[in-house]
Amino acid sequence: MTTLSDLPLRANLVGKRPYGAPQDVVPVRLNVNENTHPIPESVVADIVDSLERAVRGANRYPDRDFAELRAALAGYLGHGLAPEQLWAANGSNEVLQQVLQAFGGPGRSLLSFTPTYSMYPLLASGTDTGWIEVPRPDDYALTPELVVAALREHRPDVAILCGPNNPTGTPLDREAVLAAYDAFDGILIVDEAYQEFDAERESAVALLAGRHRLLVSRTMSKAFAFAGVRLGYLAADPAVIDALRLVRLPYHLSALTQAAATAAIRHSETMLATVADIRAQRDRLAEALAGLGYEVHPSGANFLLVGGFADPAAVFEALRAQGILVRNLGIPGHLRITAGTEAETTAVVEAIAALTPVESST
Ligand SMILES: *Cc1c(COP(=O)(O)O)cnc(C)c1O
Repeated sequence: MTTLSDLPLRANLVGKRPYGAPQDVVPVRLNVNENTHPIPESVVADIVDSLERAVRGANRYPDRDFAELRAALAGYLGHGLAPEQLWAANGSNEVLQQVLQAFGGPGRSLLSFTPTYSMYPLLASGTDTGWIEVPRPDDYALTPELVVAALREHRPDVAILCGPNNPTGTPLDREAVLAAYDAFDGILIVDEAYQEFDAERESAVALLAGRHRLLVSRTMSKAFAFAGVRLGYLAADPAVIDALRLVRLPYHLSALTQAAATAAIRHSETMLATVADIRAQRDRLAEALAGLGYEVHPSGANFLLVGGFADPAAVFEALRAQGILVRNLGIPGHLRITAGTEAETTAVVEAIAALTPVESST
């Protein structure tokens, strides 16, 4: 039998593991930070109408530059953005990959502050970009001083600040973004996958004017409840978008994806109507788990990083056996739990409460 090690794989992929959160079909799936509420029926019907028209035209290639979708995304983000400042791909993972293809690559480097999104090092190795990880302090928060020191020391070609940060939930303050931008002359990406959940902070999109090396990436996979469609996007200077056009595959966004995403944005208010409830469930989850004696880290997102588990792997398996999926990211003593519906939140709280006496005796 042939195995991976028998193949002439690129050196920087040897020993790597693919991204692999479990996809068990269990009743309570709180492991990949999706919006667990279903898409409202009225929106489904309008998206299906748009898809039907797109299917009729599918003998032709789609609009390579997806003008209608970019205009819709610009309108959604506001801040006076022009469609020329918007870009999109099949998930923000693909957007980030394109950024590294254009601005990273052999001999170049990507820096971020860990623990952070587990895809960054994988995207770096996939594009042959060096990966530099700088540890976050105990409270996971990025201060201007810490960010500036790291960027001055390492001078990366690309840096990513994830805010709110996955998997810790830590919000990102504008002071850290501004200090980072001025501290080096590379590309600065702010990954705002969870921005809609952080009602307390304004998007870094507000900082784009006059900063041509600042890129703000967003996604429809989280608050927007559209993970299955695969639509991530980016706002930046039009010159950055020109750079991404050099590396994208022609027609990378299918006519169906463009139609579905454009239709969904027409209903952004309805699509985002669950955000307030998800935030309330997150806070309820935080209070309940803190009440059980766990350490809950502050979160601006739709998930919580929770510490104080004597054996996170055992708790993960015990919950999984009850049809509840959470995420074990290998952070000692910690699990990450997505805030779902009220019923899902109740289920996970009750399951952890029932385990707690066992847990603390291990
Ligand atoms: C979920 C997530 C994304 C989104 O990925 P998509 O490819 O758009 O689904 C991006 N960044 C972070 C930090 C995430 O947690």
